[in-house]
Amino acid sequence: MKKLLPISIAGSLPKPSWLAQPETLWSPWKLHDEELVEGKQDALRLALQDQQHAGIDIISDGEQTRQHFVTTFIEHLSGVDFENRKTVKIRDRYDASVPTVVDAVARKKPVFVNDARFLRQQTQQPIKWALPGPMTMIDTLYDNHYKSREKLAWEFAKILNQEAKELEAAGVDIIQFDEPAFNVFFDEVNDWGIAALEQAIDGLKCQTAVHICYGYGIKANTDWKKTLGAEWRQYEAIFPKLQSSNIDMISLECHNSRVPMDLIELIRGKKVMVGSIDVATNAIETPEEIANTLRKALKFVDADKLYPCTNCGMAPLSRSVATAKLKALYAGTEILRRELSA
Ligand SMILES: [Zn+2]
Repeated sequence: MKKLLPISIAGSLPKPSWLAQPETLWSPWKLHDEELVEGKQDALRLALQDQQHAGIDIISDGEQTRQHFVTTFIEHLSGVDFENRKTVKIRDRYDASVPTVVDAVARKKPVFVNDARFLRQQTQQPIKWALPGPMTMIDTLYDNHYKSREKLAWEFAKILNQEAKELEAAGVDIIQFDEPAFNVFFDEVNDWGIAALEQAIDGLKCQTAVHICYGYGIKANTDWKKTLGAEWRQYEAIFPKLQSSNIDMISLECHNSRVPMDLIELIRGKKVMVGSIDVATNAIETPEEIANTLRKALKFVDADKLYPCTNCGMAPLSRSVATAKLKALYAGTEILRRELSA
């Protein structure tokens, strides 16, 4: 019988301190060359073991082999100049110095396929691999070539599709696209964002997911959240179109957020990864708090389509906090599993 409420994590986990400075985004590697290759694989094995010990069912790489969820992918592409940087406003929220698109973008070689193959060799459990979504990619760049967000997103979608097909062939069970930008640019999401995402998953036979959150627990994001009012209804603008899209699973921020849970009704029929761990606080959720979030979601998601998950990645947290949160996620899910099978 299929396991009830399979648990996964949204994305990143903290890296070991010998690999990169902890509790820091874009933290530079502490190892180089061959040592770095080996160090990343060792970290990946630890991330796998931490998830297994905590009782996570769908295993991720914890993003141990990448510096950042968007930039590392882009670094592997041609057509982008990392020396020539411009300051842009990311997700209409904070200034960042980003690389410039100077020519047609292309993927000259696979980006994460070897890493995924390595993870596949280490476990029989289902594995999930995250890629940045096309809209979030264009929002992390200055475009001096296509001069059109839509055109550039379309090119990235084609590149992501090449990578996704190779990840699928390497044995990845779920390919997830991280699209925090979907929570900001609603008109674009409906005009071409979801269409670009569908281009990225075109022809895939494995499960596909999109992760839409309110971002890591960094100051720019928590400040932004304070401006969003008592009810966060961002999802409402894009759910109807997502519901009719080809994407299989939708990963959402639900715990400690002000997202009205009934919005999930708008994507009825999709599998929903329900964020039940707040990544913006060091407080460890109690199992009962997690069970409460899942119970509320169950009114709008059929039990066989509910996947307990974290709100977002945990890279900025300490390892001890992240590990404790994983264990809490399991304990909270177990409460619901008992209730559902009673
Ligand atoms: Zn996220």
